[in-house]
Amino acid sequence: MTIRELAVLGTASQVPTRHRNHNGYLLRWDREVILFDPGEGTQRQMTFAGIAATDLTRICVTHFHGDHCLGLPGVIQRLSLDRVPHPVEAHYPAGDGQYFGRLRQASSFHETAELRELPVERDGQRFDTPAGWLEARRLRHPVETYGYRLVEPDERRMLPERLAAYGIRGPAVGELIRVGHLDLDGRRVTLDEVSAPRPGQRFAFVMDTGLCDSVFALAERADLLVIESTFLDEDAALAAEVGHLTAAQAARVAAESGVRRLVLTHFSQRYGAPGPGTPDRPSAVERFTAEARTRFDGDLVIAEDLIRVPVPARRTVAEPLSTAPGQPSRP
Ligand SMILES: [Zn+2]
Ligand SMILES: [Zn+2]
Repeated sequence: MTIRELAVLGTASQVPTRHRNHNGYLLRWDREVILFDPGEGTQRQMTFAGIAATDLTRICVTHFHGDHCLGLPGVIQRLSLDRVPHPVEAHYPAGDGQYFGRLRQASSFHETAELRELPVERDGQRFDTPAGWLEARRLRHPVETYGYRLVEPDERRMLPERLAAYGIRGPAVGELIRVGHLDLDGRRVTLDEVSAPRPGQRFAFVMDTGLCDSVFALAERADLLVIESTFLDEDAALAAEVGHLTAAQAARVAAESGVRRLVLTHFSQRYGAPGPGTPDRPSAVERFTAEARTRFDGDLVIAEDLIRVPVPARRTVAEPLSTAPGQPSRP
């Protein structure tokens, strides 16, 4: 059975709190297991989440602020300690590659794991993975930062009962797929008649950034979007100044991009601890929820450490892009 789900390892921006670890997100997508932005403490959070270091196939770092990368030394050394049997690929902003080098060699250890560095050199760069293509987009933040999206291509699924009805079997099926049609006793059978669309699934990961076109490009038609919402709209001016998003902005991105399930995370500690609020003083979670709900009415998750969020079931038909002509434009 295939599993596609996100394990949230940490949700705090800047500093960890009593309730929130530094960032850390693990996407399990069939046999591809991608660790995004391992902040401090990620190795131990993986233990709490029941995730083995040897499961990892890929590490993606958006940028080299500490809350997104200080967990790298522990995780990298653990790959060797546990003798991960397969290569692990690592992506990070090439311009700040010296930080990756230092974190990788932060202290002495016996390196046995094969860690392949594939840094992101340019906006829009794509990497082939067994799960589809991984695309990096440049974000708006004081240091070189890339968001990522994983895109499984749209395909068609053959319908055995339709093939049987036409008596199509064996090598003829391959020819039909290759050519797009098959001529049978004077009648042409097209691929559309014996197959159904199988829309690919998409995952997007958008960390520290001000609002920009790349955010929308990454989120486009995502089944699952993980996006920072460091601030609430009451601090929108500060958010713009320091290159971050508010909950309302993140929710607007999700709504305009056709996102199905939205995960807000990377919260500033200024809004207090999670937990129940009162009618007079709503909790931070209640405030982020209420603000996001003003813009987005799909599945909404306000991330907590160690929750798991499934990728929604595959769409049944391909849906048009939300940026089709005639759609409202954005500034
Ligand atoms: Zn951050
Ligand atoms: Zn940052």
